[in-house]
Amino acid sequence: MAIQRTFSIIKPDATARNLTGKIIAKFEDAGLRVVASKRIRMTREQAEGFYAVHKERPFFGELVDFMISGPVVVQVLEGEDAVAKNREVMGATNPAEAAPGTIRKEFALSIGENSVHGSDAPETAAEEIKFFFSDDEIVG
Ligand code: GDP
Repeated sequence: MAIQRTFSIIKPDATARNLTGKIIAKFEDAGLRVVASKRIRMTREQAEGFYAVHKERPFFGELVDFMISGPVVVQVLEGEDAVAKNREVMGATNPAEAAPGTIRKEFALSIGENSVHGSDAPETAAEEIKFFFSDDEIVG
C-alpha cells in the first residue's frame, strides 16, 4: 500500500474540551503525519457544502449547527494506507460501538458530538482536502 493523504477534522466538542493535542497524538502514534493544519470557524455555507451528501438525513440540521458551534481543526494526514488507518484510529461513528483505544471511544460524547471527522475513501479524501486547502498549504 502506497503513501496516501486523508482529510481530518477535530470537531467543536473536542476543541471545546482542549483535546486537540491528545487527538493529534493518536494520529502520530498510528504513523500518520500532519502535513497541513489550520484552526478555523466554519461558516454555515461551508458546513452545508461539506456535508451536502447528508442533506436528506434527519440529523443534517443538527450536524451543521454543531459543526459551526465552535472552532474546528482541519488537517491533512499523510501515511501508509492513511484513509483506512485514520478510520481505524477514529473508531465507529457511535462511540458506544467504538473499539477500545480509539479516539471516539476515549473522547466522543455521542453519535453527533463524536470528536473527529475522517474521509471514507481516497476519492472523498482528495475532494475534502481541496475543499479546505490549497496545494501550497500542504507541506509533506
Ligand atoms: P462518519 O463517517 O463516521 O463520521 O459517519 P457518517 O458519515 O455516517 O455521519 C457523518 C456525521 O454525522 C457523524 O460523524 C456524526 O457527527 C453525524 N451523525 C451521524 N449519525 C447521526 C445521528 O444519528 N444523529 C446526529 N445528531 N448526528 C449524526
